[in-house]
Amino acid sequence: MLREVDVPTYPSVNWWPNNVRPYESELSFLARFCALNCIPPRTCFDFLKMESWSYFPPSEGDIARVSSLLREDRARLLQLFQHAVDLQECGSYAPPREREKGWSVRYCPACVRHGYHSYLHEVSWLSKCPIHMTDLIRVSAIGSGKMAARRVLTLKRLMQEHCASWPDYARDGFPTREPGALQVLASWVRDACEAAQKMKRGERWRSGESTHLGHLSMAQAIGQLRALAPMPTEIEPLFTECGGTWVAHREHFSSVAKRELERLNARGLSFDSLFRFYKDTGETSDGSPAWYCKTVQQGIKERHGTCRCQWEHVKGPFSEFYWVKVVAEELGPLSFQCPFEVALTELELDWGRRGRALSARLAQRDMYRFLEKSRAMRDAGVLSYKAGASLSPDGYLYAMQDVWPCCEWDQDSPLLDLFRTAARWEIECAHSAITRWLDNIDQGIEPFRRDDPLYCVRLYDDDDGLSLVRWSKVHA
Ligand SMILES: [Zn+2]
Ligand SMILES: [Zn+2]
Repeated sequence: MLREVDVPTYPSVNWWPNNVRPYESELSFLARFCALNCIPPRTCFDFLKMESWSYFPPSEGDIARVSSLLREDRARLLQLFQHAVDLQECGSYAPPREREKGWSVRYCPACVRHGYHSYLHEVSWLSKCPIHMTDLIRVSAIGSGKMAARRVLTLKRLMQEHCASWPDYARDGFPTREPGALQVLASWVRDACEAAQKMKRGERWRSGESTHLGHLSMAQAIGQLRALAPMPTEIEPLFTECGGTWVAHREHFSSVAKRELERLNARGLSFDSLFRFYKDTGETSDGSPAWYCKTVQQGIKERHGTCRCQWEHVKGPFSEFYWVKVVAEELGPLSFQCPFEVALTELELDWGRRGRALSARLAQRDMYRFLEKSRAMRDAGVLSYKAGASLSPDGYLYAMQDVWPCCEWDQDSPLLDLFRTAARWEIECAHSAITRWLDNIDQGIEPFRRDDPLYCVRLYDDDDGLSLVRWSKVHA
């Protein structure tokens, strides 16, 4: 028996090889280790030296150490700590991480009767147990003190209440010999990760990082993964959200565009900085982002008509924004930041003329950023200054002028078509999200509930050039 005082010197613990069960959670492992050795969680964490594991995943060295301490198979420990079935392996297509697991434990009521708890019971993308297809239950962590210890105590209590043989378990091959959907799920997750990794390999850029949108939704992430790897219908009910039907549309751009991009990359100009700069120039000729943005804004203005909105976007004391309920008629002719005005401003900031949409202070800061960038762009030969622009003796723009309209992107640039397509797709994605948001507000849904799709336009390297991929959801 391991007692607290014996920990540093006592060489033997109550554990045996292959005691870790397939797909078992770390939580279950810790709870069983505590119970088998009659020690509190604190002593267990100290003994295994795993205090920091909730922040940094265990290294190979940690796993080797625990393996020799417990005489447990290294491969089993790797499975335990590195989760073979994990959609986080999908990289830029991974679903959003769980944000509230901390002070609670989620479990399957049928599995606890087997004394079993899997890490799959706590992933945010599942709402049912893949073995029993039953709803997962969340309970608050009991006790006091640190979160990790409270979670261990909570699971221990649950197991002791529902399974007489726990912390031991019946050698009946559970859970892998159970019919359920575990194997089908594991195989789909592997396929989805492989497909997402394959996509990721050639990915150069994705949209949506810099805009004022919220978090990636579970529905979008799972919907896109289903498009990359078809999901067997039998596991669909397990998921928190299935996300509807998503499609990826791909357009190819020649190797000339790729060579130009590589030339500019070698000068330290990434696609993201080039593309952002191009959009900031606010070029207004037909087909340009600002031109396309304006047609979309026109449509939104027509839909708005006379303002009868009931929500105002208000700036709080710490520059945060929130929505308050108002009656437009009572505000009279004063214009206020209603949802339509907010939508128009968002479009203007991203694809119209930033200088016009920003407040004076922000506009000035943005102007210096733009000026700085314009030098590198001009030196790289992708930009010229318009006639009438006021220039310093060394040939760069002076700050004392409206700098944005002074710049002209090279109209013969092999990247122009790529930029215009990417911007048009971004605007189309934003427009469809805004339309759905405004429709929802019309139907009485509060404006702060907004799940705009993210990262919908992505740039990839392919064998003979570049391709631009646009993700969209198919609406019935
Ligand atoms: Zn279960
Ligand atoms: Zn309005």
